[in-house]
Amino acid sequence: MKKEYWNKPTMDLWDRLYIFEVIRGLCITGSVFFGNMWKWLTFRKGALTAYYPEELRADYSSANRGRHLLTTRADGKVQCVSCNMCATVCPAYCIEIQSAADFNDPFHPKSPDRFEIDYSRCIFCGFCVEACPEDAIRMSKDTPNFPGFDRENMWATQDLLMNWQPASDAAKSYPGSGQAHQEVHP
Ligand code: SF4
Ligand code: SF4
Repeated sequence: MKKEYWNKPTMDLWDRLYIFEVIRGLCITGSVFFGNMWKWLTFRKGALTAYYPEELRADYSSANRGRHLLTTRADGKVQCVSCNMCATVCPAYCIEIQSAADFNDPFHPKSPDRFEIDYSRCIFCGFCVEACPEDAIRMSKDTPNFPGFDRENMWATQDLLMNWQPASDAAKSYPGSGQAHQEVHP
């Protein structure tokens, strides 16, 4: 029979009987379930589920967008010029910046006095990194460890963002570092 359109699905007799495909699916699901259950009963880890926060995954992709980092200049001050572009583009509205002015520093008169990210709302899209004209904010593949019952504790402060250093995935050197960073856990 001629197809009505080129990729119209075709069903053979086996598909049309339907119930056998349902049984086949149940067998696959059941074998995985009982296999995992047997491993669990014999004190082995079966499923791939990570029991967060007691257990942290270590196999994130190198392209994973995890922790935000605020880069610094050679003098140790924050690279950010407080332009607010990251906060403007952020779809979760979770970046808060309070600007300060230092007119004794003609090359960097404006910088954040307070730069905070609310990790209870961040969706790790990376738009803030893309929008930054100063390479002042980056994301490393490390993940923020913020489990808790109080949202107030899920704010990453400016000090934390400046001191979270990537473990090994620094694609390029970080301003002011001049050397490989060591992992610093909050
Ligand atoms: S990663 Fe996305 S949601 Fe998170 S702070 Fe950046 S722009 Fe906002
Ligand atoms: S991190 Fe970048 S985009 Fe955000 S305020 Fe600072 S300079 Fe602007």
